Amino acid sequence: MCRHLAWLGAPRTLADLLLDQPSSLRRQSYAPRRQHHGRVNADGWGVGWWTSAAPTPARWRSATPMWSHASLAAVAPHVSSTCILAAVRSATPGMPIEEAASAPFAHGEWLLSHNGRVDRSVLPPTAWPAAESVCDSAVLATHLLSAPAALAERIAAVGFADPAARLNVLLADGTQLLATTWGDTLAVLVTADGVAVASEPYDDDPRWRDVPDRSLLTVTASGVAVHDLPDPRGETVAEMENR
Ligand code: GLN
Repeated sequence: MCRHLAWLGAPRTLADLLLDQPSSLRRQSYAPRRQHHGRVNADGWGVGWWTSAAPTPARWRSATPMWSHASLAAVAPHVSSTCILAAVRSATPGMPIEEAASAPFAHGEWLLSHNGRVDRSVLPPTAWPAAESVCDSAVLATHLLSAPAALAERIAAVGFADPAARLNVLLADGTQLLATTWGDTLAVLVTADGVAVASEPYDDDPRWRDVPDRSLLTVTASGVAVHDLPDPRGETVAEMENR
């Protein structure tokens, strides 16, 4: 299970968010504290951030371990943004290890990361052609990013179709964060400067709050909200899509 992290708030450097915290995402790539599936996240990493230069985010990914990436360490102190999304990867057995399989996955102004696994056969065939990789997370990302407003319904439908799926996803578009919990941990930290959402806390700040399983977390200009994910009531993925 991979680890992911996002920030929305006052400008923050990539180094401060990803590298310098006591249990930073870089440290989580070799010593995660709450990970139940997989022991290290050495199969790649990725980070995306938004600037005033373009509506679409900058994105930098790699199929190498984050801890060994000297250029990331060199560049990260010089890049800051009000919205950052990043992930480190532990590949699911059978999935390719390649840059294109490292989150975040992109569509327009959106980025998405996935902690977990899903049987690709339950995803609509229409999601395959546009997927960045045959990796399950990439195909799931294509499906979810085609309708970010339907995130909660689609996660519930996919989870119903594949009862073994783990579906923690994290999305951002530069102005908002959306996250689901379905089988893995997620925590949120609200400070005066902004909001961090992470698979596991990057420090021991007592203000971190765990997000309950099967929830949708939204972080927007109007605040932080947590809602129960809908009960799919047996609808198929296609039926929920057409609602
Ligand atoms: N299934 C995804 C992959 O193979 C994510 C794996 C994970 O969460 N560890 O990349």
